Amino acid sequence: MVGRGAVAAFAVLAFTGCMAHGQRTVPVAEVAGPEALRVVLVTTPQDFSEAVKRANPGDKIVLANGVWADFDAVFHAEGTANSPIHLVAETPGKVILSGQSSLRLAGNYLIVSGLVFRDGYTPRSEVISFRRDSNHLANNSRVTNTVIDSYSNPDRTQRDLWVGMYGRNNTFDFNHLENKTNAGPTMAVRLNTEESQENGHRIANNYFGPRPVLGSNGGETLRIGTSHYSLTHSGTVVEDNFFDRCSGEVEIISNKSGGNIYRGNTFHASRGTLTLRHGNGTLIENNLFDGAGEPYTGGVRVINAEQTIRNNYFKDLTGIRFSGALVIMNGVPNSPINRYHQVNGAVIERNTFDQVSSIELGEGSDSERSAVPVNSKLQNNIVLGKGGVNPFHLHDEVSGIAFADNLGSGGWPEAIASGFSKLESPTQIGERGWIQPSAGAGAVGPYGVALSATGVDWYPKASAASPFEGGAVVSLKPGTDVLFDALQEANAGDQFILEPGDYLESRIITLSVPVSIKAEDRGSARLSFERPQLFKLTGNGGLQLDGVTVTGRSAPDGSGNSLVGTSSSDGSNNHLLDLKNSRFEDFDVNRGFSVVAASKGSFFDRIDVENSEFENISGPVFKLDAETDDYGIYNAEYLEISDSSFTRIGKTVASVYRGGTDESTFGPHVLVTGSSFETIGSGDVPIMDLHGIQYVKFSGNNVIAANPVALTLTTGKPELDFSANKLDGAPADTFATTVDLRGKN
Ligand code: CA
Repeated sequence: MVGRGAVAAFAVLAFTGCMAHGQRTVPVAEVAGPEALRVVLVTTPQDFSEAVKRANPGDKIVLANGVWADFDAVFHAEGTANSPIHLVAETPGKVILSGQSSLRLAGNYLIVSGLVFRDGYTPRSEVISFRRDSNHLANNSRVTNTVIDSYSNPDRTQRDLWVGMYGRNNTFDFNHLENKTNAGPTMAVRLNTEESQENGHRIANNYFGPRPVLGSNGGETLRIGTSHYSLTHSGTVVEDNFFDRCSGEVEIISNKSGGNIYRGNTFHASRGTLTLRHGNGTLIENNLFDGAGEPYTGGVRVINAEQTIRNNYFKDLTGIRFSGALVIMNGVPNSPINRYHQVNGAVIERNTFDQVSSIELGEGSDSERSAVPVNSKLQNNIVLGKGGVNPFHLHDEVSGIAFADNLGSGGWPEAIASGFSKLESPTQIGERGWIQPSAGAGAVGPYGVALSATGVDWYPKASAASPFEGGAVVSLKPGTDVLFDALQEANAGDQFILEPGDYLESRIITLSVPVSIKAEDRGSARLSFERPQLFKLTGNGGLQLDGVTVTGRSAPDGSGNSLVGTSSSDGSNNHLLDLKNSRFEDFDVNRGFSVVAASKGSFFDRIDVENSEFENISGPVFKLDAETDDYGIYNAEYLEISDSSFTRIGKTVASVYRGGTDESTFGPHVLVTGSSFETIGSGDVPIMDLHGIQYVKFSGNNVIAANPVALTLTTGKPELDFSANKLDGAPADTFATTVDLRGKN
């Protein structure tokens, strides 16, 4: 590996004189090589192209510090094994590629280092591509020490890749990729021509920062191959990478080719699994899957033949079914290449499962997926279920898996019990109480990779702080357009405190950062607005309202008003909305007046409502049904309402729509607890209209004069919890009418 220090030292050599035309050539005689090393500093795209054209093995092209907007960079050159050609930043982290920029590599022995992509998105199908076009690939080349941060297409449905690897023997290491919010894997290894197969690529020591929930398929952090080429050998090594909150969809990694190795990686608080979706003969070893107790965190999902999973540590994983700590799928007999091939010859040995919620065997068993695992072994593992509860769930016949010499906490299903012995008192070491191997069972440490050994050291890794804190605290006095004026200059995490009195807003407030607006005392600040919307969330916009009374009385007399709306005009990251201790009244000047109305192409991570009142609202109160194309896309991952009241609501309280039948998402989720509802809807309008939902909890609520929740089930196995509700004073647990369309499409 080339040291980072060496790159910086070379760059310094370039600045020993003035630059008349933005380009200066400095021969460096003392560097040995087949040709004299030249260092060329460039300040314009034209000079860069010229320098690339004239580059010889051993040359170093240096991009001057500053912002390079709309830079369509092509690095097509021929280095040699001993004298690669470098493309480096003058100072690592000080060269920003923004706007509509991209970088394409083609040729041999190229090394790219020190760049940052942010404040824009690629106009091409990739940000960094290891090919110029389908006829010119890069081989034996490396991209290192480079950052791509939030460089997402503002249209969430537009697919692209941040990194596309083609060719052979390429390396992608010590990079930092964070916050991709549009469709398409963050990174993909492509095997679409013979020149990219048996590729020998190495993906190592990267920091894969948070990938927010996409709200549809296509949110993988890494994909290797596609179903079409899945029976070809890939031979990519993925090692010592840190996956931090990579939660775009059910697949953290979608492995769709053969002969890959995943070794020594850490998966931290990431939803979903490393999925062996297609292809055979892949090895997964020495990884740490640490769910940190977060929802839907999982480990490995096994499909296909000759897969080996050994010496991994699975810790605090709460996922079940497709996101279990270990999931062995059923296959489809004589499966087409894009469905599920039978598990055959899987070896799962010497792993430690420590406080995991589930291990699923024969998962997905149904009339189509009827081929049970065969010729497989599960041996010498330590398996400790969460809270001492047996984590194994058997969905079909498991006689094709030989269980032997495993240790665990007990309670095993009879069909597999002979392969287990009780681990009486596990030895634990370290602050986190790692379970030590015992009697030849369990994983031998160290597990995974340390965060500090990944990414770059000159760019901060993503924080876990609340988005509604950490900024300035600003006190505001009542008046007209006070919020509009104050929020023009708002920074992320600012908190605005409203002194008692009336606030009237005559303009729509566009919010592209998360802010908090709080009344000094609950109910003492009254807010009204004269436009069809008050807050329009865009970019990274988010809003917390605490203790505020909002009235719709001043809104225009037209249909479809809303307090909070969304727009992707300035980018559309995942939004957060937090309404608490607040009151919303008289949103009824016309029909279709919502508190929240999401537009197509926008997505809320969470809408939280707590201890708030809603009265006289024409509704729907929460309108989250703009994605009607049935592509598996939806508007909100979580709508969670607690300890709140809804009175005289014209339409439904919540309208949520998720169409499509793919099994790629965990949401949408709707949770409603401890709340009261009185006089909701007219005619047969349901209290809530939930289509394609994956999780519903409607529990401990008191309902008077309303129609049941309308559930339309379209895909998956939605979790439904209706308990302890009262309808018109009488117990009515299951307060829903269900239409089940599953298997009918
Ligand atoms: Ca997927």
